Amino acid sequence: MGKRIYLCLAHMGGKELAFIQEAFDTNWVVPLGPNVNGFEDDLKKFTGGDREVVALSSGTAAVHLALIACGVGPGDEVIVQSFTFCASSHPVTYLGAVPVFVDSEKDSWNMDPDLLEEAIRDRIAKTGRKPKAIIPVALYGMPYRIDEIMKIADSYGIPVIEDAAEGFGSRFDGKVLGTFGRFGVLSFNGNKMITTSGGGALICPDTASKTEIMFYATQAREAYPYYQHERIGYNYRMSNICAGIGRGQMFVLDEHIAHHKHICSLYKELLSGVEGIALHENPSGRYDSNYWLNTVVIDPELHVRGEEHAYETAVQGAVGGAAGVTHAASALHTDCEPNRNIEAMRMALDAAGIEARPLWKPMHRQPVYRNSPAYVNGVSEALFKTGLCLPSGPYVTDDDARYIVDTIRENIL
Ligand SMILES: *Cc1c(COP(=O)(O)O)cnc(C)c1O
Repeated sequence: MGKRIYLCLAHMGGKELAFIQEAFDTNWVVPLGPNVNGFEDDLKKFTGGDREVVALSSGTAAVHLALIACGVGPGDEVIVQSFTFCASSHPVTYLGAVPVFVDSEKDSWNMDPDLLEEAIRDRIAKTGRKPKAIIPVALYGMPYRIDEIMKIADSYGIPVIEDAAEGFGSRFDGKVLGTFGRFGVLSFNGNKMITTSGGGALICPDTASKTEIMFYATQAREAYPYYQHERIGYNYRMSNICAGIGRGQMFVLDEHIAHHKHICSLYKELLSGVEGIALHENPSGRYDSNYWLNTVVIDPELHVRGEEHAYETAVQGAVGGAAGVTHAASALHTDCEPNRNIEAMRMALDAAGIEARPLWKPMHRQPVYRNSPAYVNGVSEALFKTGLCLPSGPYVTDDDARYIVDTIRENIL
């Protein structure tokens, strides 16, 4: 057995080191400078040119600052797509606010607009107050129904924070995600469409809001010759070194997106005729997913080699690495986990040197959010129990995709 095939590894395009070298040569080794400005300009151009962009230390920081700019504070409620990675909802709790989770629709797997409206109405009826913001998420890169979500949000006067962390370069009706709502969140973590090793950005509607976000991202310093603080701020700006990586990555962004889409079309071709396995694809021509991670759903009735032994042994370490920092699991099972055939397929792929990962566990089923209100239709929980993410990144070759699908076929009983 040779190399291991990962979901999405960072891939350098070649120009990153030159930007970093320039930062060293000019001693811009700080969280501001030419690379930060240059990267923000690149991102502004990519997102259409009529929005402003602030480079930040992470996508999580971008969510946090967008919430602050929407006036979210203690006791407020924020509507968040339940089917997401925790970075969409954790910052709500940093502010002492409560996430209200909304389930997904079947075709996009993202926030169900009907359920969103029901949730808004019910929160107003129950609390007498409107939720302060709405966070739809482009899960695995797939666009959310942003036309319908914006219509509902506008009719109630609630700002939308688009979590496009996984959907950088995805489009709906031809328009780049992150540019529909008041704010748009991007992530440049090591496994995303492009990387700055770690980093993120917030797409802002105008210069005034960019200035406000930068104020909070730099410890909320007032304009005095000494440190004067009238608000609480954060240290969230992107380093000029990381921004150099980002500037270099902009040269391969289009190539990366094209590659992820190519891998999707390969999976589609290779999986056609494999019964019981369905690839997640753009539901219509209005959607243009970047296919950051290609995902499949496996029929609960499909039997997979070794499924009788699924969940017998504890997993070492946390999903996604987390730099080895994890709590040991207290049990082999939780009350909401992927089906045995999914775990068996994950283990079979793992044994063949292929990284696969269950779909993200919905936030409304996470113990830490057990007290958060949730508006649920069963879609995200069913997907979580039946789905797998497959390798999709720049290092996944055509031969790899064939090997992956061959391995999947071989393990179906
Ligand atoms: C990656 C990600 C983020 C931001 O994460 P960072 O690692 O802090 O950059 C936010 N939301 C979603 C859905 C993500 O996948």
